[in-house]
Order: sequence, then structure tokens, then C-alpha cells
Amino acid sequence: MTDSLALMGVKGGPAIRPGSQMPVSMLLRMDGKNIVVDCGLGVTRGICDQGVALTQIDMIVITHLHSDHYLELGPLFHTAWTAGLNRTIPVIGPKGLDDYWHAFQESMRFDIDLRIRDEGRCDFDSLAAISVIGDSHDFGGITMRAMRNVHPPIVDTFALRFDGQHSSVTLSGDTAYMPEMAEFARGSDLLVHEAMLRDGVEALCARMTNGDERLRTHILRSHTDAEDVGRIAKDAGVKQLALNHMVPDGDPDFTDQNWTDAVRKHWDGPFFLGKDGLQITL
Ligand SMILES: [Zn+2]
Ligand SMILES: [Zn+2]
Repeated sequence: MTDSLALMGVKGGPAIRPGSQMPVSMLLRMDGKNIVVDCGLGVTRGICDQGVALTQIDMIVITHLHSDHYLELGPLFHTAWTAGLNRTIPVIGPKGLDDYWHAFQESMRFDIDLRIRDEGRCDFDSLAAISVIGDSHDFGGITMRAMRNVHPPIVDTFALRFDGQHSSVTLSGDTAYMPEMAEFARGSDLLVHEAMLRDGVEALCARMTNGDERLRTHILRSHTDAEDVGRIAKDAGVKQLALNHMVPDGDPDFTDQNWTDAVRKHWDGPFFLGKDGLQITL
């Protein structure tokens, strides 16, 4: 089977509104394995929409502990469990992810115990084997490398690179512009990079009803201008570029053309503007 990467949710940030896309999750199909990267809201539906059964997930990676990247990790496991999952899936993520996992189970204790007793379901806790992300992991011949990116105030936040037998893909994670990303992504078949349009961030913050100036500061110092994404792709010499974690999302004043124009200032290679459900062949 051909390797591919599906963008199941491409908006930046946790909020959804009528007309918006979903927060971040990706499905990497490499060397016959199904690897889920990030579990923002909508990941469970997204995997099914890709034609992959929840029982066929082979590994899950969480890039950092912002809710738009792991809010649905527990519900994904719970739903996979009720769909028949009965083996352990490795989950790799930042320190603290196991706290979430245990607290999720506690919050669902009544239901989980009930289904074990009343429906004969298998043990739930052992479905996830959580480990802390390191510099390099081997997963059945696939090498996953992690590089700390720039996403203050979070420290444990990572870009990921997967190298399989036939293809390679680099995922920026949430990050401010960092020239080192070009070296990390060097020669990848696909770079998926987060992106913002600065004017769109201003418009978004002007509309916000329950955040203050700190939200604007946070977004601008911890994300990457779409123009700089094009620069990184060019410097890295990747074969294809895709945008995800886009801010703003669902604002009619900022169109596909605005995104494309920004990226095209530096990048003239194959380019995909992220859309929920888009599958890219590696
Ligand atoms: Zn995010
Ligand atoms: Zn983030």
C-alpha cells in the first residue's frame, strides 16, 4: 500500500464555530502501519472517515499538551474499546500525558467498570502504553525523530520526523519560525507546517470575548507566518509542502488565495492548503 498522510483537522487552536474546520489530528500510513499524530477534537470521526477501523491504530504520538492536540485522546481510546480494541497501543508524548490518561479513566469510572462487568469488555487501562517522547524512537522499522520546537511558554513541545522504507515526512508541530526546521526536514517527501496570517490573527483577537491582550501575544510569539513556512520548505528542499494548524480559520476575509500568495513568496513546489480530510500521497 502507498504511504500517505491524511490531515483530519487543520485549524489552529481549540475553538470551533459554525463553518470552521476541526483542531489538529493526522493519520500517517507508512509501511503498512497506521500512526495517529495528535488527537484534537474530531480525531475519532476523522480516522473512520479515512476508512481505517479504530482497532487498526498501531501507534499514537502527541506533540504537546495544548488541548487542541490531545483533548480527544481519551475518547478515542474509549470509542476504540467499544469498537473492539483488545490490544495495547503505544502512545508517545510529553511528560504529564499519563496524568491525563489516569484522570480520564477516573472521570469515566462508572461507565468503564459497568461495561467490563455488564458487557464483558476487556481491561481499559492497559489499552494505552504511555511513554515519554525522546530524541529517537524505532517503530517496526520506522524511525521517528523528535526535535524540540519553539512554542512558548510550553517547553515539552516537538516537531516530528518519520522515516520509513519508502518515504519520509516531517511535521512541524506548533512552533514559531525556527530556521533549524529546514535542517530537520531536509529532503522529506512532505513537510506539514503550521501557519498563521498575521492580519488574520489581529482580526481574530479583535473579536475575542473572553481573552485579553495575552492571547494575541501568545499567538504571535509561538506560531509561524505563512510566508516563513514557504521559506523553510525551500531551504529544506522538501518534495511537497502542506499547511495545517491554520490561524485564522473560517474567517471569510482570509481566503485560500491569501494563504497561497503568502506561501508562494518563497515556495514554488507542490503545495497543499490543509483541508479536513485531505489525503496526501508520499
Ligand atoms: Zn495548537
Ligand atoms: Zn500549541
